[in-house]
Amino acid sequence: MTRRELLSTVGAAAVAAVASPRLAGFDQAPAPAGPYTLAPLPYPAAALEPHIDAQTMTIHHDRHHQTYVTGLNTALAKEPAVAGRSLEDLLRNLGTVPEGIRTAVQNHGGGHFNHMQFWALMAPNAGGAPTGAAAAAITSTFGSFESFRDRFNQAAASRFGSGWAWLSDEKGKLVIHSTANQDTPLADGRKPIMGLDVWEHAYYLKYQNRRAEYVSAFWNVINWTEVNRRLA
Ligand code: MN
Repeated sequence: MTRRELLSTVGAAAVAAVASPRLAGFDQAPAPAGPYTLAPLPYPAAALEPHIDAQTMTIHHDRHHQTYVTGLNTALAKEPAVAGRSLEDLLRNLGTVPEGIRTAVQNHGGGHFNHMQFWALMAPNAGGAPTGAAAAAITSTFGSFESFRDRFNQAAASRFGSGWAWLSDEKGKLVIHSTANQDTPLADGRKPIMGLDVWEHAYYLKYQNRRAEYVSAFWNVINWTEVNRRLA
């Protein structure tokens, strides 16, 4: 079908509408470009194969994480007075965030924070037993790496629905816990050390409903160098 025939068939107005996304009634202000932006993954999307597949990493980072960044920027654009505060400050003190954007900051700001720490927590050619200060802290707190891993896996398995399993510092003591949705340990006065994403979007393409297999695979890509940096 030629362009002339198309025009005569569906009409010029419809063609113009296809050419322009700004249809009446669907007009939206473009999402603000900042203050937050999505950093690229610190390694190629396929770098964690076969444990976490490239397609999952690409969709998880480029679409899901981007959605949190966009949502956070959109919320902050409504309250310029808080946009200058650090993200950690906002998440630690959600009660001081204006009510109109509090839930958006909790969900999208939490999503941005949680995912940033998650990408850095993994690396190619990583995994295995902890090293350095992490090894010593884990052994002294949990008895052994195996005992720690079992308890962390249990926290990841027992989080109902979407959320995160964490190793956090609570007033100088290491604790294993989990959070719902995109809630962060910061909101509970804890400093996150390791956070594993157990939302289905983190594993469903490769592992379907088998969350335990995904959690088990995570130990093959954990970046102990980064854990040590956070403990320091
Ligand atoms: Mn996620």
